[in-house]
Amino acid sequence: MSALKTSVHATTAGVFMPDAGAVAARLDELGLVSDEAGMLTRLYLSPAHRKAINLVDGWMREAGMSTRLDGAATLIGRYEGTRTDAPALLIGSHIDTVRNAGRFDGNLGVVSGIEVVRAFHAAGKRFPFAIEVVAFGDEEGVRFDSTLGGSRALAGTFDMNALDERDSNGVSRREALTAFGCDVSLIDRSARTRRDTIGYVEVHIEQGPVLEMHNIPVGVVTAINGASRGKFVLTGKASHAGTTPMDLRKDALAAAAEIIVMVERYAHAEADLVATIGQIETPGGTINTVPGLVRMTFDVRCPSDELRHNAVADILANARAIASSRKVAIDIDISHDAPASPCDERLSRALAQAVERCELPLLTLSSGAGHDAMAFRGILPFAMLFVRCRDGLSHHPDEYAAPQDIDIGVRVLAEFIQTLHNQQVDK
Ligand SMILES: [Zn+2]
Repeated sequence: MSALKTSVHATTAGVFMPDAGAVAARLDELGLVSDEAGMLTRLYLSPAHRKAINLVDGWMREAGMSTRLDGAATLIGRYEGTRTDAPALLIGSHIDTVRNAGRFDGNLGVVSGIEVVRAFHAAGKRFPFAIEVVAFGDEEGVRFDSTLGGSRALAGTFDMNALDERDSNGVSRREALTAFGCDVSLIDRSARTRRDTIGYVEVHIEQGPVLEMHNIPVGVVTAINGASRGKFVLTGKASHAGTTPMDLRKDALAAAAEIIVMVERYAHAEADLVATIGQIETPGGTINTVPGLVRMTFDVRCPSDELRHNAVADILANARAIASSRKVAIDIDISHDAPASPCDERLSRALAQAVERCELPLLTLSSGAGHDAMAFRGILPFAMLFVRCRDGLSHHPDEYAAPQDIDIGVRVLAEFIQTLHNQQVDK
């Protein structure tokens, strides 16, 4: 696509009249749909999830979409393209929440998608592709062990064994889905391919402080970080705190302390890496004993798998050296190695162009948290737009995104759709 061609293409300006007030009002209304009085808790396949689906379904229909609920309880609204069998662009996020949640996490992406379609529909605008707004219900993973059931069904990677998982009341996922009115035998029919689907885009609050720190309302996500997790077990020698001279100790906790500081320093020195020791215990420890045993966890995340694997290897080598210098034995167990999910270059470029067309500064960042988008890794192209949230706070009732920032997110999403259209015209 040449620069000249871009300049004569249509933008959404003048056509597109998003109603940011309506988006904020819908988020408020949805935020009241809860399983628990006085706070927002909306678990997968709960009565509040049903109420939320009914509410969102009504908004989708008002916005010009036809709607259906699939076998994994994902609500899908479809706004047809210029021809009825056109491939679809998926816009989505989730409407389940954690316990005592904020009202923006997930819900913002669904409501933004609906508002964009509503505005295009009101302007009589259709595209050579359909737009489907998808409201997933199983992102937070609060009710059952596994998560992303809805997005994995669309990706065609839903694990049927997950149907046998049971919640804390002994209700299986299969029973809960059936009671909800979903036919689990249809789950595999939800699978999308590149023939019927252009890709997936998700607008989500950042859930971190980077956009706020840069004073920028939205950012284009480069990748959802991969993660390594595991455990250190340090075994020294428990001995009398009063009688053991300092140079004869094998203090497992002092070794752990040195390792914690090493991990923090290492991650500080790598721009895209975060590393955390989140739990530590000293089994059998007492106030007057030199600690003989320490167990602690580690968690390392990064948008690049290569950088992450190198970092984990370095951190483990450093930890072994520290333990050895203190005559403490060390056992290391890596329990979790999830690959990064890089966003699609073409879709992300279209998002970046949309940000620039809205005359906003462009900031790219990786996502430290997981999202439905990562279910599409290797299956469908996907992109994500983050919206600034106050203090980077999420999974908390004080979670907040300003109406002006939400408005910008909606406009960028609309401009992104127009940019995709322009690219198809250029093909
Ligand atoms: Zn979320």
